[in-house]
Amino acid sequence: VLARIDEVEPTLHSYIRVMKEEALDQADHIDEQLGKGEIEPTYLTGIPLAIKDVICIKGVPTTCGSKILEHFVPPYDATVIQKLKQQHPVLIGRTNMDEFAMGASTEHSAYGITRNPWDIERVPGGSSGGSAAAVAAGEAIAALGTDTGGSIRQPAAFCNITGLKPTYGRVSRYGLVAFASSLDQIGPMTKDVFDAAILLQAISGHDPKDSTSVNYSVPDYTQSLLPDLQGVKIGIPKEYFAEGLDPQIERAVRNAIDVLERLGATCREVSLPNTAYGVATYYIIAPSEASSNLARYDGVKYGYRTANYSDLMDMYTKTRSEGFGPEVIRRIMLGTYTLSSGYYDAYYLKAQKVRTLVRQDFERVFQEVDVLATPITPTPPFKIGEFVDDPLTMYLIDVYTVPINLAGLTGISIPCGFTQDHLPIGLQIIGGHFQEEKVLRTAFAFQ
Ligand code: GLN
Repeated sequence: VLARIDEVEPTLHSYIRVMKEEALDQADHIDEQLGKGEIEPTYLTGIPLAIKDVICIKGVPTTCGSKILEHFVPPYDATVIQKLKQQHPVLIGRTNMDEFAMGASTEHSAYGITRNPWDIERVPGGSSGGSAAAVAAGEAIAALGTDTGGSIRQPAAFCNITGLKPTYGRVSRYGLVAFASSLDQIGPMTKDVFDAAILLQAISGHDPKDSTSVNYSVPDYTQSLLPDLQGVKIGIPKEYFAEGLDPQIERAVRNAIDVLERLGATCREVSLPNTAYGVATYYIIAPSEASSNLARYDGVKYGYRTANYSDLMDMYTKTRSEGFGPEVIRRIMLGTYTLSSGYYDAYYLKAQKVRTLVRQDFERVFQEVDVLATPITPTPPFKIGEFVDDPLTMYLIDVYTVPINLAGLTGISIPCGFTQDHLPIGLQIIGGHFQEEKVLRTAFAFQ
């Protein structure tokens, strides 16, 4: 993996930091412990894993793709890292991302862009674009990403890998730097569904340090991976095949649905009438939560502080103007506005009500079907620079992924074909709350 990093990293820039020396030391140490019989090997023992730079690792700089956290070194491990370490993987590096996970292209990183390994003129997706590119290009065996509105699934689709967003509450968020706390989840980004099951298993479970993590038993996810889909009922939401969907993506996803039927599933059309409001609702709720979460970066407690200032207000203003990039500032402005008195009821409260409608749509269809099959994105990977100055178009790319976060559901992205230009296309399988087994089973049979 390190040799591969030497070879392709100068072109792709999947990583903000490659932990070469640390990784070799970890590997030697694991070999030694195994040799002496001090540890029991698991699937993950000695496996090189990449970690998105928004998940705290004790003693390792965690930047969130932001200048404001350039020199931040967490004094503790995130719960997911603590859990992984029990199985002795090799943590090989910190992957690039849109600043504070805000974006869909990894172009909003303070540390430069990442390129898509399938076409280096195109974006890898985002915000976990570094993790997706690293796994796709063999610069890691698997990675952790985070998904607030699609940031695991969309880059997985753009880079032709597997990415799973767990149910809200399945995986602890302790030690994950918050973007939008009611939407964020950490999840696996892997070469295939089996690896996703292994990694999900490793990081799942209740954590007293995260009050939103749910105390619900963790099944052995690898046991749910069956070769066929006998008895599985799959819904095809018609709103996910509406105007704006690239015809090549529609064809690939419809072909995938035929394959699911041949594997024994019964597929039928369903309706999620509030789908059209997903993006608007998300872009009220996520920036509102972000504006509140990002208030902590004031130049006082930790992170960047401006060099010259006259008084406290001036210090705050300069620190935040210099420390945050344009997309983060845009979200803070949006969120501050939608939470301000006089506008709160019209925007934030309204968005919360629509969020409930979106969730109820899913709850209704999940009384009749086990999982849903949809596209991940309306378009294939786009050119670097194409939408970076056009935030509204960039936001619309999230149309098929954000409803899953609003409703707190689980969803996986798996490769299902290519466009004529050899650009990857992803298939999304969505499951109800804590239905990861059904999602994994469907995805495994398909791949
Ligand atoms: N593209 C979405 C956004 O910009 C999703 C980001 C995410 O899931 N972290 O907010």
